[in-house]
Amino acid sequence: MDTIVRIDVGASKGPKVTKEGVGSYAGLGGRALTSAVVSKEVPPLCHPLGPENKLVFAPGLLSGTAAGQSGRISVGCKSPLTGGIKEANAGGQAAQVMARLGYAALILEGAPMGNPCYLVHIDKNGIKIEDDQSLKGLGNYALVEVLKKRYGDKVACISIGQAGEMRLAAASIACTDMEMHPTRHAGRGGVGAVMGAKGVKAIVLDDEGCAMRSPKDPEKFKAANKVWVEGLRKHPVTGGGLPNFGTNVLTNIINEAGGFLTRNFRTGQFEGASKISGETCAALETNRGGLATHGCHRGCIIQCSGIYNDEHGNFLTKQPEYETVWAHGANCGIDDMDVIARLDRLDDDIGLDTIEMGATVAIAMDAGYIPFGDTAGAIRLIEEVGKGTPLGRIIGSGAVATAKAFGIERAPVVKGQAMPAYDPRAIQGMGVTYATSTMGADHTAGYAVTANILKVGGFVDPLKPDGQIELSRNLQIATAAIDSTGMCLFIAFAVLDQPETFQALIDLINAFHGLSLTADDVTALGKSVLVNERNFNKAAGFTKEDDRLPTYFTREAIAPHNVTFKVKDADLDKVFEW
Ligand code: SF4
Repeated sequence: MDTIVRIDVGASKGPKVTKEGVGSYAGLGGRALTSAVVSKEVPPLCHPLGPENKLVFAPGLLSGTAAGQSGRISVGCKSPLTGGIKEANAGGQAAQVMARLGYAALILEGAPMGNPCYLVHIDKNGIKIEDDQSLKGLGNYALVEVLKKRYGDKVACISIGQAGEMRLAAASIACTDMEMHPTRHAGRGGVGAVMGAKGVKAIVLDDEGCAMRSPKDPEKFKAANKVWVEGLRKHPVTGGGLPNFGTNVLTNIINEAGGFLTRNFRTGQFEGASKISGETCAALETNRGGLATHGCHRGCIIQCSGIYNDEHGNFLTKQPEYETVWAHGANCGIDDMDVIARLDRLDDDIGLDTIEMGATVAIAMDAGYIPFGDTAGAIRLIEEVGKGTPLGRIIGSGAVATAKAFGIERAPVVKGQAMPAYDPRAIQGMGVTYATSTMGADHTAGYAVTANILKVGGFVDPLKPDGQIELSRNLQIATAAIDSTGMCLFIAFAVLDQPETFQALIDLINAFHGLSLTADDVTALGKSVLVNERNFNKAAGFTKEDDRLPTYFTREAIAPHNVTFKVKDADLDKVFEW
């Protein structure tokens, strides 16, 4: 994994491929690498859909190895949604395959002439690019069927649906899972729109004939991996809650805690929560011949994913994630699991961020365009995005655009990106992360639910401002480091609670790369990623005033706790002071 491949889609004679060593990016992977490339090579003031922006794909430091849980791919660029730096990562097979092909990163550069529909094919023999107009307008599912017929079902596909082709700001990038369903998405920030702007519809990765990456010290690596896997299996969250019920195990927990936002962030509890909970969903999946426990890529130990069949027992979508269940469910007043699964399928097919779409449909409901709980109306709105109708294009442009179009204040966003499934008043640590993350409102950037609600890694009272700054800071640093390893973020539960599991992660990196990193080095890596990202955003025009929640969160108390967001602006400004 010592090669960076660049594809200049704007070269005068058609896309030009160049390969180079990792150079000054040596030792970086995943988010550390994508954010470093964007920080160094993308002018912060450029238009996100213009030729100066770059779209960077990078597997993590441990991707493509035998290390359990190491298959996340990082996607970086300047975001069309936030106007700042963006790192969105996804599971699925892409990272493992790209790493085994020997690539530390794939970078799409320039802007194409005309309106091409490029298909990039990468295998051990090299890289081929063709302009295949027959793929134009296909949803991700139909597209992957075509690619499967051409290349077989052992490849990994990275692709965009119609939303990416239309360059809409909520467009995602799909990665295929082990069954070659396009269900794992780099969802946030409009990364799919940037891929569309490069004229690239799909990237097919084929690692046939490529060996698994081998460690510098195989014995130490094997021993560390054993402790690592045992640690993940023994923790109650990574070895119990997540595999049994998926991320949707959180619905009952967060609803109970009063942070399960309902009807465009009006209240913190949903009367229909039990009908859409992880427990209900897992039982439904099992009864219909689907799977309640499933890994999204080779080597996943936790297996929080699942397979959701329709009422006839036919595959419909993957197990909808907690954030999707909340966004299209409680936040829209919908308590029908089949409707939520249908919306999840539509989002994946058209290539849309489910969080942004749930928030956006709820805004249209709040504005009175359709009523809360209107299942047919919600489906119709998402279908309109796929068809590219004028209303669909507004919806597909996200929460801010839709709130403006409908003339309402209540857009729950930070830096232009919709908030996920945790109320920042009932879980104040999440409010700090939403406000200050370099990514805009992003739960994964610093998941304070751990200490606020789950009592993992200590306890900080979720309803009070005390201790939230330090909690969010430490989590944001740790997350930036984890996102650089290629590890799925869900390892954090075991790593935060079990010192020997945290040490095993460091041992894995050291044994694989022949290093002697300490915990302090990992912290330093996380800090350096955040500094790169903060500097980019500053140069793009962000100020401390952008590190704030919308004012209605400090004005409107939310039931059942009747609390407002209490963390002071001056304290938010200290998150990155270390
Ligand atoms: S834990 Fe879940 S999200 Fe993470 S790699 Fe496994 S299936 Fe994918």
